[in-house]
Amino acid sequence: MIFKLVKHLLVIIFLTVFTQIGGVVYLLVIFGLKNFDNKIKLVVFLLMYVIISFVVVPCISPYFGRVRIVNSDYLQPRSFLYTLTNRNYVVPEMNEVLQSVAENYEKSKSGAKLIYLDANFPFFNGFPLLPHLSHNDGKKIDVTLMYKDGKGKLTNRKPSISGYGVYEEPIEKEYNQIDVCKQKGFWQYDFPKYLTFGRINLDLEFANEANKELINLFLKHQKVSKIFIEPHLKSRLKLNNSKIRFHGCQAVRHDDHIHVQLR
Ligand SMILES: [Zn+2]
Repeated sequence: MIFKLVKHLLVIIFLTVFTQIGGVVYLLVIFGLKNFDNKIKLVVFLLMYVIISFVVVPCISPYFGRVRIVNSDYLQPRSFLYTLTNRNYVVPEMNEVLQSVAENYEKSKSGAKLIYLDANFPFFNGFPLLPHLSHNDGKKIDVTLMYKDGKGKLTNRKPSISGYGVYEEPIEKEYNQIDVCKQKGFWQYDFPKYLTFGRINLDLEFANEANKELINLFLKHQKVSKIFIEPHLKSRLKLNNSKIRFHGCQAVRHDDHIHVQLR
């Protein structure tokens, strides 16, 4: 009995941490279908989870001040899993910024897509989207960096399956914030290297110009208050805007993605 309770509790915590609403759906199923067998419960859970995530939540989230990011040909999640786990909600202003940046970016770099990673959950300010403690108010989003292929041509391919964890390391003579943070004992600073889910597209190279242009498009928006990228990339791309900040050693390194937040 206790084993069963602990098992249920662990599943509820896991689903809540990763999807926000999954734990509640699970509770509804185990209480609503008490006398049914586990296979039926699993099928009903999956069906309910999908229907609630794709139909119900997007209708309710605006009452909590958040909307699902509207995807287009040029604005897309790195993986369908970001959508399936409800990690794609933002305040309406952020959705507008994303639409405008994606559209303008494609205009100047034909075919280039703005690919996003973790944003926020649909409900409750203060509810963090782990492992990003600050993604808790609808005003934060991570987007991928841009790369060139082996022939020097801009591509929408990325070097990691999740979109996180493959770093554009400091080169010789560049300031190495990573070493500084790790020497201070912040062991978690390069933890996302374990979150790649696999390294792919080994031919890719960091695209200096394209990344600079993308960051500048975000900076132009008045509502964008801060952008986090690693200090060596800030100086390599000659970005002098005061909105570009160092996130601190208690966070994780930002040379695998760009963090954008609104005021
Ligand atoms: Zn972030």
